[in-house]
Amino acid sequence: QRRHLESLRNVPAVTKDGKRISLCANVGNVEDIRKALPMNIDGVGLFRSEFLYMENTHFPTEEEQFEVYKEAAMLCPQELTIRTLDIGGDKDLSYFDFEKEENPFLGWRAIRISLDMKEMFKEQLRAILRASAFGHVRIMFPMIISLEELREAKALVEECKKELSAEGKVYDEKIELGMMMETPASVLLAETFAKEADFFSIGTNDLTQYLLAVDRGNKKIADRYDYFHPAVVSAIGQIIRAGHKEGIKVGMCGEMAGDKRAVPILLELGLDEFSMSAGSIDYVREQIINM
Ligand code: PEP
Ligand code: MG
Repeated sequence: QRRHLESLRNVPAVTKDGKRISLCANVGNVEDIRKALPMNIDGVGLFRSEFLYMENTHFPTEEEQFEVYKEAAMLCPQELTIRTLDIGGDKDLSYFDFEKEENPFLGWRAIRISLDMKEMFKEQLRAILRASAFGHVRIMFPMIISLEELREAKALVEECKKELSAEGKVYDEKIELGMMMETPASVLLAETFAKEADFFSIGTNDLTQYLLAVDRGNKKIADRYDYFHPAVVSAIGQIIRAGHKEGIKVGMCGEMAGDKRAVPILLELGLDEFSMSAGSIDYVREQIINM
């Protein structure tokens, strides 16, 4: 079985009706990319940049981040999708005092922190932009709930571009700016977001939690946490249709994308890209080829 799966690695993920599906890896660091390369990935659909922050003793500087993103960009065969800092919720930093919150998953996390700490956010954006000169880098914003947030984040990227140009530093001027689709608000506003984002990536881990009002980490209700719930599947369909209506690609980087049982449903809904941990790629590829 293992041999058979490995022999399929060179077969491109094309469905029987001829659609080429992009198969990407979810990673937390450069080492993860190295480990995923033998699976013949099309790129990285989710680089969780928070690990770089969590493993440090201080907010990593622009220079420190640039070195990491640059190495990652040079390793990636195709796209490298870097998600901007997604801390808060269940993820803390040892060197930063997060006030205790009643509902951390509904609290100060992800893009909310970045937009409140603009200087810190800009260091990350500048580092990513500079790395974009070394590969096909894309920027992805987490936990977006409003057009204002997306516009503000995009404006900060523009500001960083101008600064870098003035300093004579190079970057990909056409860098794509996309967003995670992981809040109910993002689903309901998907058509609007699709007009202003360059790509979508569906985060089923949070989307399931927020749509079903089921804490993703609570064992007592784990049987109710289900991304095959009709409400979640319906939301995924809405997101994909909205994206395609505006001509943008829609991927998925939540755990559902690495579940081979979900492949038929996600292909039927028109998903363009599956991004998952390296260990699942062989299995999902086999499913896709047979569909
Ligand atoms: C998600 O929410 O589905 C996701 C991919 O992000 P994370 O698991 O890091 O919250
Ligand atoms: Mg998430």
